[in-house]
Amino acid sequence: MSLPVKPLKRDAPKDMEPHKRRTVVTPFPGVEVGIRGAQLRATETDRLCKAGRGAGAGGKADLPSAARGFSARLIRWHQRHGRHDMPWQNTTDPYRVWLSEIMLQQTQVATVIPYYLRFLERFPQLADLAAAPVGEVMALWSGLGYYARARNLHACAQAVMSQHGGRFPHDPDVIAQLPGIGRSTANSIATFCFGAHAPILDGNVKRVLCRAFGIAGFPGSGTVEKRLWALAAELMPKRHGAIYNQAQMDLGASVCARAKPRCDACPLAELCVARATGRTAELPEAKPRRTIPLRHATLLVLQDGPRVLLETRPPTGIWGGLLSLPELPAGADTQEWAARNFNCTVLTVSPAPTLVHAFSHFRLQIAPLLLQVRPQAAAMEPGRQWLPLSALEGAALPTPIRSILGAVQASGNKPLPSRKR
Ligand code: SF4
Repeated sequence: MSLPVKPLKRDAPKDMEPHKRRTVVTPFPGVEVGIRGAQLRATETDRLCKAGRGAGAGGKADLPSAARGFSARLIRWHQRHGRHDMPWQNTTDPYRVWLSEIMLQQTQVATVIPYYLRFLERFPQLADLAAAPVGEVMALWSGLGYYARARNLHACAQAVMSQHGGRFPHDPDVIAQLPGIGRSTANSIATFCFGAHAPILDGNVKRVLCRAFGIAGFPGSGTVEKRLWALAAELMPKRHGAIYNQAQMDLGASVCARAKPRCDACPLAELCVARATGRTAELPEAKPRRTIPLRHATLLVLQDGPRVLLETRPPTGIWGGLLSLPELPAGADTQEWAARNFNCTVLTVSPAPTLVHAFSHFRLQIAPLLLQVRPQAAAMEPGRQWLPLSALEGAALPTPIRSILGAVQASGNKPLPSRKR
């Protein structure tokens, strides 16, 4: 099989929202600012709850009864039970908020934190990120997965510099035009940084809404998603939008979890349709199942003493822009193909253990072949390089390639344990 180079729909998540988040201290009337986030006065949320105005501006008459007090309950709950101390919280700097939003897509908070801190250390300002070579950004991102996010991150920083004078636009519709930023992410940034009152709809919010309002159907389908956006807009309160959005995400991450939601601890328990009808395990409905195909690739580790040969992948598609190992075409003779394509003498060929890597839409079984080679004196083709094994750590490598080369490095010059053939 040949690794695809076309952009992959799920490798380039436009708006795959996370389970995360931040609280941004914003100067809302009635908000007391504490060192770990915004704090509402109790009387404020009590008043909202009693008045049943949590459903939006003045409470929308056409909303189901479950909507009454929805936002107020969440806002009040968040004061005591929400998350307030993430590294990206308590700031209205759109660069930091945006960076965390992108990193947290499809990625756990604990995984993101060291990457987020490293990025800020290397690129303290958006201008630093925009000015960096994309290869350096990819190298820093290495291991975080979904590499289209890193490419778009770099492209977005450059777009903000060139199109907006280095300042993030405030309008969520304009933010959503930037590379790699979808509607929910744009609304998040506008809400947390610029005081907008724009609804969000990440995976956590979808789960909470589907359960609280008993919405059937796969939430990723066009029809259901459209309905959820309309509901999210109706529920958006006129005030305390940042706290409300944060509360939804925190509730989805910590209480209304995918498996075993803690309904007894949920501020929405009294109005939740799924709980009342015993459907918490059914909602939200799962994506219709499809078979994930298994593909195969033979990758060559050309080793010349302490260094290995790597190629830069095409800028889009699987592992786009990262360094990878050459792929042996199906049916090719290993020795002949390697000698001809890389101007080298092949001394030995030995198989290494296979590994399987899961992508969003297929699994890839990788069969590495370790070739000890002696390169001829010839100019190196563009995009190829000999990388010392001692320099693996700082290289922009996808996780499976790093794993293969890590085993080569660890083995010294001993042969790798061979796989069964
Ligand atoms: S009551 Fe249970 S199912 Fe309903 S929103 Fe709360 S945690 Fe989720």
